[in-house]
Amino acid sequence: RVVYVNGEFLPEEEAKISIFDRGFLFADGVYEVSTILDGKMVDNPAHLERLGRSMYELGMTPPCSMEEIEVIQQEMLKRNPIQEGGLYLQVTRGAADRDFVYPDESTRSSLIMFTQEKPVVESALAKRGMRISFQPDIRWQRRDIKTVGLLPASMAKVAAQGEGADDAWMVEDGKVTEGTSNNAYIITQDDVLVTKARSNKILHGITRKAVLALAKEEGLTIEERDFTPEEAKLAKEAFVTSASTFVTGVVNIDGQQLGNGTPGPMTIRLREIYIDFARQNLS
Ligand code: PMP
Repeated sequence: RVVYVNGEFLPEEEAKISIFDRGFLFADGVYEVSTILDGKMVDNPAHLERLGRSMYELGMTPPCSMEEIEVIQQEMLKRNPIQEGGLYLQVTRGAADRDFVYPDESTRSSLIMFTQEKPVVESALAKRGMRISFQPDIRWQRRDIKTVGLLPASMAKVAAQGEGADDAWMVEDGKVTEGTSNNAYIITQDDVLVTKARSNKILHGITRKAVLALAKEEGLTIEERDFTPEEAKLAKEAFVTSASTFVTGVVNIDGQQLGNGTPGPMTIRLREIYIDFARQNLS
């Protein structure tokens, strides 16, 4: 693989970052993952817009303009010609002597990128459907900022897998917030699509926005509101969305099988129309 580090394209073994980088010392960094489909990025302008917002919310000076970031992304795709997978991008506040106070403007933020090859359309997990267990949401209160501080989410996923599930849905104040790296949805017995409303308690998924718009066009009734673990277990269908997994069915919640234990028909339909949308929004 060829990776990108602060102005250079290098073989991955040669790439280096300072041990004083604030991403390393303070998780003082933000990231985005643009999915690669047919060798191009899906809905990438939306990811760059969210990256800009994440940096703004943290008072982080961008490493360069968004246009320049996009040029680097395109060069990465040229140098790593993969059909399906993801392009990971990370901006940290850069390297400075360790201090809780942000360094001054002369410290340049750091930009890195790498690709990961992985089947996205023909996903084994999407065919089988995911098993979910509930875990307490112990993350911070600004989950709308996409920071690299992912340890609580990582702990929740490991705990879920320890219980024989594939992933966790995190629970706070008796309500489901989201998955460890995806947004969470249920379809009730009377066909209402329910997902938590946007706030600082969840990441505003790029895929969430697209899927809700497509579901509306399909004539589905949508409620953006809280739901409890108990309501989730009574659902007709459930699924998650993320850039890297598109729409992926959930077939078992906390030991309760949903429907016949395979991804439901509305979930399958939403996955198909999202993939069509993705193919029409490549760059
Ligand atoms: N929530 C969390 C906590 C996530 O990490 C992700 C994946 N980045 C998502 C939701 C889904 O967001 P997106 O659709 O933009 O990938």
